[in-house]
Amino acid sequence: MNVRCAHRWAFSAFGGALAERTDDLSAPSGDEATVRVTHCGICHSDLHFVAGGFDLGQGQKTSITRAGATLPLTMGHEIAGELVELGPQAGHAPASIGERVVVYPWIGCGACGACERGDDHLCTKVSRNLGLQLPGGYADLVRVPHARYLVPIGTLDPARAATLACAGITAMGAIGKLGPLTAEHRVAVIGCGGVGMTAVALLKATTPAQVIAIDADAAKRAAALSYGAASAYDPAEADVARAIQKANGFDIAAALDFVGSETSSALAVALVRRTGHVVIVGLFGGEFRMPLPMFALRSLRISGSYVGSLADLRALVALAQRIALPPTPLHLRPLAQVNEALADMAAGRFVGRTVLLP
Ligand SMILES: [Zn+2]
Ligand SMILES: [Zn+2]
Repeated sequence: MNVRCAHRWAFSAFGGALAERTDDLSAPSGDEATVRVTHCGICHSDLHFVAGGFDLGQGQKTSITRAGATLPLTMGHEIAGELVELGPQAGHAPASIGERVVVYPWIGCGACGACERGDDHLCTKVSRNLGLQLPGGYADLVRVPHARYLVPIGTLDPARAATLACAGITAMGAIGKLGPLTAEHRVAVIGCGGVGMTAVALLKATTPAQVIAIDADAAKRAAALSYGAASAYDPAEADVARAIQKANGFDIAAALDFVGSETSSALAVALVRRTGHVVIVGLFGGEFRMPLPMFALRSLRISGSYVGSLADLRALVALAQRIALPPTPLHLRPLAQVNEALADMAAGRFVGRTVLLP
């Protein structure tokens, strides 16, 4: 097989702009696969990757370098495209050459207990995430370390399918943490960006629960209502937690925090009833503070949720093929506009998800 040229948009310094570069891409070996990227979603995490890490509060930050990322870094982990080449040992691949696929990007070492259980995303050893430790989908070609991470999408819109790989499975994974939901359950969704809006849509499509949408942006609140939320609130309103509780009979069973800031997590904790469940998903950053006796007195459950498994992605693609998920807004832009698109996301200038077209 010939060596191909991959055209990638990468940053070479933290906080710097992305620039186009050309890298040789040798033929896939072993179980590897090469995918021609047709669509790649921009995730909010990418803003943190460019900055070098996530805010831990008190001036501390995680380091993506410590997590195994190297510069120049090609981001992009919501990848849909066409399978163009398979390694010699990838005959068992779930997709055939020319087939359209979405790529599972949360790849682990493949050998630890978590990976053996199918929880690559919770790998305890060496993560090989696409768009972080390995070059991602802000490119025309992407190398996938094993063909099993390809999920055929059939007739699904590839722009929408791409967003399932992070926004979709993150929303699904967080909802899954709540267990079975009935019509009596009220679930607050805090933060209605790409992931939160997907959660509103998935909750509506797959459960009878009543959804309370919370976002500072009026356009996002309106969109959440159109996707089935029973009510929507601006968190900046005075005494908002009390108003939401009152309107819901002080009976909110769970809150999904897709922001993950100090104020959003505090609101989530304030909203839920006794025995309520708060799931923190967003990675905005900061510290979580709570008086210790409240865990017992309110019998609260506070948990976290991080992306989802390969099985989650397969299930979500199958679900999207079976039922019409309410479509969250998508903005399609040429890959060459990636810097402008990231700046627009940082400024919160749109509702929904931006998908880049290489
Ligand atoms: Zn993401
Ligand atoms: Zn592992």
